Amino acid sequence: MNTLVDSHCHLDFPELAADVPGALADMAAHGVTHALCISVTLEDFPKVRALAEAHANLYATVGTHPDYPDPPRVTSERLVDLAAHPRVVGIGETGLDYYRLKGDLEWQRERFRAHIRAAKSCGKPLVIHTRAAAEDTLRIMHEEGAEEVGGVMHCFTETWETAQAALKLGFHISFSGIVTFKNAGALKDVARRVPLERLLVETDSPYLAPVPHRGKTNRPAWVRYVAEEVARLREVPFEAIAAATSENFFRLFRIQGPRA
Ligand SMILES: [Zn+2]
Ligand SMILES: [Zn+2]
Repeated sequence: MNTLVDSHCHLDFPELAADVPGALADMAAHGVTHALCISVTLEDFPKVRALAEAHANLYATVGTHPDYPDPPRVTSERLVDLAAHPRVVGIGETGLDYYRLKGDLEWQRERFRAHIRAAKSCGKPLVIHTRAAAEDTLRIMHEEGAEEVGGVMHCFTETWETAQAALKLGFHISFSGIVTFKNAGALKDVARRVPLERLLVETDSPYLAPVPHRGKTNRPAWVRYVAEEVARLREVPFEAIAAATSENFFRLFRIQGPRA
């Protein structure tokens, strides 16, 4: 069976939640077989979990995104409790974002540490968001022993040096629609260099629609354009990228993939 997985989407966000059957039908039409629905706050987590409970080809993560300063303190214990659900396959998205928020962001770093500790204690991999904060992200990953559990650097936009440091910690690198943008030359180069067995693709929908739909509301189906661009950059058939990224996804998140 041919598979293609969107390793990171926000199907519970209003833009997409309004028509989940439509988004699922569109996935099927584009050969996208599975998607991972990513939690951004514990308040919204039940919606993400409900999607994974309702649809056999959707999975969920639990976590609080660094761009949300308001929610109450997130403890490792709470995350571990919520992650015990069989359809919850990862912890995140978590990480650091010094681009959107300014000032004293010690709370972001503490929250990130709590997520890494939770991931280690429940043995589920991390989904890490990092923006304008690569150095601190890698430092905290080191300090907290994130390599024990591994995971993915999602929507990767950093340098090859940062990618190499994350790879060394056993992490995967996931590319979004940004890699299809004309002005993303340096990122295209990173997409050529990441080892095939550590490569993932994603949409981060409803954001970051890939070319040829740039500017529109993104949807999981369009991970196809991301995978096509990565294949073009690496000069390999699309099927090879679809197969490798799917296999990587199922292995990383310990999901019994469909039989070939
Ligand atoms: Zn993110
Ligand atoms: Zn996201």
